[in-house]
Amino acid sequence: MEKKLIVANWKENKTASQTTEWFEKFGAALSISRSRSKLSINLEVVVCPSFILIPVLNSQLSTLNSPFRLGAQDVSKFEEGQYTGEVSAKMLRDFVSYVIVGHSERREHFGETDEDVNLKIEQCLKYDLTPIVCVSSLEQVSTVSDVIFAYEPLSAIGTGKPDTPENAQDFAQEIKTEVGQNVKVLYGGSVNAKNAKSFVSQPDISGVLVGEASLDAEEFGKIIKTL
Ligand code: PEP
Repeated sequence: MEKKLIVANWKENKTASQTTEWFEKFGAALSISRSRSKLSINLEVVVCPSFILIPVLNSQLSTLNSPFRLGAQDVSKFEEGQYTGEVSAKMLRDFVSYVIVGHSERREHFGETDEDVNLKIEQCLKYDLTPIVCVSSLEQVSTVSDVIFAYEPLSAIGTGKPDTPENAQDFAQEIKTEVGQNVKVLYGGSVNAKNAKSFVSQPDISGVLVGEASLDAEEFGKIIKTL
């Protein structure tokens, strides 16, 4: 049975102390401890904090006997060199397994183009990181395999107005027709504990990307428990 992927995108939120607080509440919400895990074995949970919090969360999550992974929210399109402020795939691979690439907020506020996104995907694949490529239209879907796509309609991001599970399913099916039946497609946009299951139970949707609701450890714990 295919593992469902639940990805938390924290965006530009949380300090180190808020991260520790989140981690404690999250453990309590799921009743998980160092010795036991009550999570379904068919789930993989990926938390994507800001770069600076990755080592903080890494040392905390690694104490749990649970299916947690870390991801980054972005990566440099350059391999290394004179690119002040950038974080490369080569640096990230010691800490994370996944990288969110091409999020609509990066396209909107930082002018990221499809060409940039493709260079970032290339860097991820070169360093064995799995890119989670965010797309809001079929034109943004490149036919690269070995990536996970996240269908994130612009009208649903941070608005409290999710797309319907049926539309998300149709979009996922179209991506698979274009790229290949084995590619994983997630849905993202106003996912919460009440609607997560309706998306994840669609035949071509392999999980969810969660923004706002992942910042609250209890709500994020609830999402995981509903799946
Ligand atoms: C996102 O921005 O990736 C996202 C899914 O946000 P939200 O859940 O807050 O709509």
